[in-house]
Amino acid sequence: MKQCIKSSQKPARLATAGRSALICKAVSAPPSTKLKAGVVHGQDLVDLMQHAQKNGYAIPAVNCTSSSIINACMESAKEVNSPIMIQFSNGGGASMAGKGISNKDEQATIAGSIAGALHVRAMAKYYGVPVVLHTDHCHKKLLPWFDGLMTANEEYFAKNNEPLFSSHMLDLSEEPIHENLDICKKYLTRMNKMGLMLEMELGVTGGEEDGVDNSGVAAEELYSKPEEICEVWEALTPIAPKGFSVAAAFGNVHGVYSPGNVKLTPSILGNAQKYIKAKHSGSDDKPVFFVFHGGSGSSREEIREAISYGVVKMNIDTDTQWAYWDGVREYEAKNRGYLQGQIGNPEGPEKPNKKYYDPRAWTRKGEQALVARMKAAYEDLNCVNVL
Ligand SMILES: [Zn+2]
Repeated sequence: MKQCIKSSQKPARLATAGRSALICKAVSAPPSTKLKAGVVHGQDLVDLMQHAQKNGYAIPAVNCTSSSIINACMESAKEVNSPIMIQFSNGGGASMAGKGISNKDEQATIAGSIAGALHVRAMAKYYGVPVVLHTDHCHKKLLPWFDGLMTANEEYFAKNNEPLFSSHMLDLSEEPIHENLDICKKYLTRMNKMGLMLEMELGVTGGEEDGVDNSGVAAEELYSKPEEICEVWEALTPIAPKGFSVAAAFGNVHGVYSPGNVKLTPSILGNAQKYIKAKHSGSDDKPVFFVFHGGSGSSREEIREAISYGVVKMNIDTDTQWAYWDGVREYEAKNRGYLQGQIGNPEGPEKPNKKYYDPRAWTRKGEQALVARMKAAYEDLNCVNVL
């Protein structure tokens, strides 16, 4: 476990000389980076992931369901001068579309994910940091959603010579491994032509997220084996070396609740890296980009240990959901007397309340609380001032 020094100074204001104080001792301070700001894809994305692995940090990936939440995430990244990943789950795509339209043939989740991506595309450059545009878990029954996104990427690529998104996740972990890999290979071949990265899942992340409940699965399913991770690496590397990441199971659980007998075991990831390196006589100590799902509720030590084994991305959903709500809740509690009608408050029966109930007033409080929570996440991920 690396020992990291934290500075009490506000990270975004740190001078270059102070930057190294925020980086693990075992790693030298990152060189003046050439990482591209705005939405990244292809080699720029690989460079970003390698920069993370080399410098011992992971990038937060936040599930977004509105433009307000997207903007708050990018605001947090700008404040800490670090990259961010904006991602949409299938349900998040539906939320971006508006819940009032039909989702026949995944039309709402496709259109909503595209709308979210276009919002990010329009705004990312103003925040001045690298932004990875990603979609979350896609199970077998949701492949029509994935197909719709592939078409959108190909259409965008034809006009702009780059894909709309940066990467997508396929989660076929419930299928037999050969089927999981066959489908991943098929899509990665199509994606790699556009410089899109694939995140695949192996094993089962416990808990419940976006309507999928894995809280009852057998304990051994919650831990991937090095041989299985190696099988993934062997299958996908010939198609796109470094063009994929693996969400392996190491006892991680979606959501925040008592995990029972499940113990987070990040060393599984380190063992897999060693196994692949030895089997293929490679020179790379960390041949695999790992992704940490279900990080909510994990301690900083557990997160840092996972990063030391090559985790470059950690998903955040539950904690930012709570933070956004908590900001709104606090605002309502503080201003309750001004929020009970359009006219009339503790200052008088004729007094107007418009400035209190204007959605811009209370969504901003949610955004500010989310930014504050994200700053803590960036600290946990050793991802402060890394640009
Ligand atoms: Zn997940």
